[in-house]
Amino acid sequence: MNRAVITLPLSPRKYYELARFTVPIIGNELASVLGANFYLAINALDSYHNRQKDLEEYLKVYASFKLDGQIWLDKLHQEELLDLVNKLISKGFIEERKIKSYTCACGIIDMEEKNLATMNPNKKDFIMQDGKIFCPHCKTICTLAQKDALVMNYAKIKNPQVTFMPDYLNKDAKTFKNMLNNSYQVISRTRNTGISITYQHKNYHIDIDFLWGLYLLLFKEPEKVVICGNHEMYQLYLVGLLEKSLREESKTILVGTPFLTGLNALPSSISSEEQLLIKKIGILMNIKWPRKEKEYEDSIFKGIAKLPLEKKRELLYNLKEEIKVHQSLEKDLATAMKRFNMQEQLRILKRGK
Ligand SMILES: [Zn+2]
Repeated sequence: MNRAVITLPLSPRKYYELARFTVPIIGNELASVLGANFYLAINALDSYHNRQKDLEEYLKVYASFKLDGQIWLDKLHQEELLDLVNKLISKGFIEERKIKSYTCACGIIDMEEKNLATMNPNKKDFIMQDGKIFCPHCKTICTLAQKDALVMNYAKIKNPQVTFMPDYLNKDAKTFKNMLNNSYQVISRTRNTGISITYQHKNYHIDIDFLWGLYLLLFKEPEKVVICGNHEMYQLYLVGLLEKSLREESKTILVGTPFLTGLNALPSSISSEEQLLIKKIGILMNIKWPRKEKEYEDSIFKGIAKLPLEKKRELLYNLKEEIKVHQSLEKDLATAMKRFNMQEQLRILKRGK
């Protein structure tokens, strides 16, 4: 197949929450309609915690949803990802710079001085007191020092245009573009992240999020859709942009799914085919693409529950049926997204298509 739908690498944490499976369920459905391979990408590399147990539990629940496709695990691709880092070095995208940054004793705080003023106050992971910066983990004062670091220079990407769907998300893209396109990002860390490379005889620890951020370059399908919840648009933008560094011609489409609040009132466990269909279809039919956030509607789940098993099966089949005549990826994706409409699906079901 020439097409792939790939999730942004998801964290396997909180596998007991149903919301953790919305992106795979939507991605799998879109892949089926588009005639694309589906990949559940998982971020299990973590320099702080061992995610093995979470990963096993997540995969168990995932298997119960019976989604077809392949699992792509970042930690099984470390070598290839490091090869990409070296390629970015040889092409001049990654370079060494002197930067001034704040660091603490445990190494969790490692931030460039110039970013301090523009940092989102809600996302700050340090404590500011009497004009000094403290680490909330090791409680030490962060010290400012100049050091050598590796940076990814986004200004060198020739064709940085990326496409988001639904269209309203392109406003976010513009914000990110202004932040990054003529700028750089520090990609090395003072602490040992477990991943290191040699740059001109010097050893650097590489930031894990940067490393897996290169993953799109490892997929061979020329037409790609990358999907994640719309709370992670910045990461989504970054993977799209990073792909452009070594694949200028890429036309990857980045999809942000609406955030369904309250969904975790339902457990992620599945015990029968009935339940499986109710949860899968219930999630798909709760999605309203033009909305960024939406309270999930239990009435939709209940409405599906009332349908006879045969009708539930038929409904899911209709939702997943591949488009007969393929057009451009963007057009086909728009068609696929339009299927998320309960009234329309019930009409089709009544017609007995
Ligand atoms: Zn610390």
